[in-house]
Amino acid sequence: MNTEEIIALEQKYVVPTYKRAPFVIERGEGCILYDSDGHAYIDLVAGIAVNALGHGDRGILGAIMAQAGKLIHVSNLYHSEPQARLAERLCKLSFADKAFFCNSGAEATEGAFKFARAWAKAKNEPDRVEIVAFTNSFHGRTFGALAATDREKYQAPFRPLLPGIRFARFNDLDSAEQAIGDKTCAVIVEPVQGEGGIHVARDEFLAGLRRLCDRRGALLIFDEVQCGLGRTGTLWAYQHSGVIPDIMTLAKPLGGGLPIGVVLVTQSVADAIHPGDHGTTFGGNALICTVAQAVLDRISRPEFLAEVRGKGAYLMERLHEMNSPHVLEIRGRGLMIGLELDVEANKIVQAGYGKGLILVNAGDKVLRLVPPLIISRQEIDTTVERLTGILAEL
Ligand SMILES: *Cc1c(COP(=O)(O)O)cnc(C)c1O
Repeated sequence: MNTEEIIALEQKYVVPTYKRAPFVIERGEGCILYDSDGHAYIDLVAGIAVNALGHGDRGILGAIMAQAGKLIHVSNLYHSEPQARLAERLCKLSFADKAFFCNSGAEATEGAFKFARAWAKAKNEPDRVEIVAFTNSFHGRTFGALAATDREKYQAPFRPLLPGIRFARFNDLDSAEQAIGDKTCAVIVEPVQGEGGIHVARDEFLAGLRRLCDRRGALLIFDEVQCGLGRTGTLWAYQHSGVIPDIMTLAKPLGGGLPIGVVLVTQSVADAIHPGDHGTTFGGNALICTVAQAVLDRISRPEFLAEVRGKGAYLMERLHEMNSPHVLEIRGRGLMIGLELDVEANKIVQAGYGKGLILVNAGDKVLRLVPPLIISRQEIDTTVERLTGILAEL
């Protein structure tokens, strides 16, 4: 099929939940994607912070092939080594004592909320059912996660949503203090907000939330679905602040492009959960856990993380050198960077397609750069050159 035929077929048969780019991506190699007409693009999106090791990674391919030939799936009714090993690795590398596996970020949010309620009930506090979330948050599209996602456009068509979610202002402790009360079972926050426009939580803000949660008897949930797993230059985004959560959600990059979600919890949360309380058919199957181990092994290496920090700083420096009047602010950490513009970010995204750049927005006026973590300095240089050209032509 040629490009037009593929697009026409898709438009006829696929529910139009996404406005898609005007070409068909056929294959990828490292940080470069190729469309069905043979054009090459530098990938600054990485499948929305998913393909941390880029495209066509041999290690991921090897893990898929080795495990797929042995066992792909057996259901969570049975023990399997890859899940046990991945859980151990994730716990040893983080604050957590136990892991729950699911299939996506939204599902991890749902699991975290259910665990928080079960934890409060187990403490004999049945009225402690509320969740506090923040302005500009994004936690996913399922009903519970959507209720905690501060985006009117995403919520409006689907009301009524899950009740009992309160919003406080991001990076504003006074606002958080007013929202967190004796009915709060958990506070959920992204240490670096992704979809909401790349806003970094201040260290004092996270430390303040930790204190408020401890004082009021609520759990602190970090949503590291986008900012976790090396994206900010440390394995976990929370490490920049030193603040430790009770629950952490992961998803996007962990499966190297295959679907996986994780809810990491402390022992005290795990103690509230019993067989039958929660579940999922596919979560943590043998194939995905083997692949995730391969990804985690690579990303968690100190040399790899040091490279991410170095390249993040380099990209930040090069972006500042652009000195474009259209760029109002550059924010972010590591290889998670947002450019606040004085025009619709979508204009730049569209122009990027003609210049061999795959870009994405985060909200209306923020251009988001979340490339594969393996991006080279040369690819960064080419990206900044092309971006400079696009901004100059506005
Ligand atoms: C993408 C995202 C989610 C939702 O993940 P899905 O896999 O799309 O359900 C949740 N939280 C954050 C911070 C995200 O960036």
